[in-house]
Amino acid sequence: MKGTVYKSTGSWYTVKTREGETYDCRIKGKFRIQGIKSTNPVAVGDEVSFMLEDAGDETFGIITEIEDRKNYIIRKSVNLSKQTHIIAANLDQVFLVVTLNNPKTYTNFIDRFLATSEAYDVPAVLLFNKVDVYDPEELGEIKYLAALYRDIGYTCIGISAKTGKNVDKVREMMKGKTSMFAGHSGVGKSTLINYIAPDLALKTAEISAQHMQGQHTTTFAEMFDLEDDIRIIDTPGIKGFGLVDMEKEEIGDYFPEFFELKEHCKFNNCLHLDEPQCAVKEALDNDELAWSRYKSYVAMVTGEEDTHRQDNYQG
Ligand code: GDP
Ligand code: ZN
Repeated sequence: MKGTVYKSTGSWYTVKTREGETYDCRIKGKFRIQGIKSTNPVAVGDEVSFMLEDAGDETFGIITEIEDRKNYIIRKSVNLSKQTHIIAANLDQVFLVVTLNNPKTYTNFIDRFLATSEAYDVPAVLLFNKVDVYDPEELGEIKYLAALYRDIGYTCIGISAKTGKNVDKVREMMKGKTSMFAGHSGVGKSTLINYIAPDLALKTAEISAQHMQGQHTTTFAEMFDLEDDIRIIDTPGIKGFGLVDMEKEEIGDYFPEFFELKEHCKFNNCLHLDEPQCAVKEALDNDELAWSRYKSYVAMVTGEEDTHRQDNYQG
């Protein structure tokens, strides 16, 4: 039988078949997939094959195979073991919810997030939330940012999770896809999800209530089905999106607007820092490249810590 993993508790996996039936499944033996070692061999979003096994009066599945992942996002545990945990697999898109203030989302954070999404091969969409509260000057700033990121190729939508403005556009983009929402806490992710799917918000609330009671010490991602073949991966309490090991030399590959330019740099291993005849720096001097983007890039290459980290990578 084949199905998709909707939930994982570490030892049990909820697998849903295309017909919509769910089975509790376990894994037998060791899995090593696509060269990564992780604490969890199977993640939410994985496409798996399983066999049904009868154990007295209960039936459960044994996962026998995991299909190659289109992509996956990981989190590294902060303890010394630095173990990798796969948060979710096979995402179609991630929505990064940002706000100008309360809380302020810095371009540095946006750029790191986008570069990471590029590295993960998960398409990112920018949602500028709370447009109902901005004054004309702030709206101008949003327009500026949206134009900047649109130029690079990212879809940008100004929304209000409170009034519902443009939320239909977001929902439209979610049809037939698996999506995830990310952004600082307080930007309005829950409000937005609640607007799109009131029933789902109820479910997540139940889950957090369970956590409060201490039934689980770790939180796990879970996938939810909505009408119109919309799937949302909820990642309660996971702060990990963004921690990928990137070589200095590859960071430029995750800034799409550098692509065509870097072919014209004198050195083919140009890091676009102090090298002579660098096409990226020339474009910068000619105002063909945004300074904010370049600054974020330099910060990543030089290994500068994100100064606005706080709870940056909350999913
Ligand atoms: P989360 O931490 O990202 O899930 O953020 P929440 O959904 O909990 O929202 C944080 C606060 O922002 C709450 O007080 C919401 O009511 C408020 N909020 C969310 N979206 C909007 C919006 O579009 N406009 C306004 N004015 N407030 C919003
Ligand atoms: Zn260069």
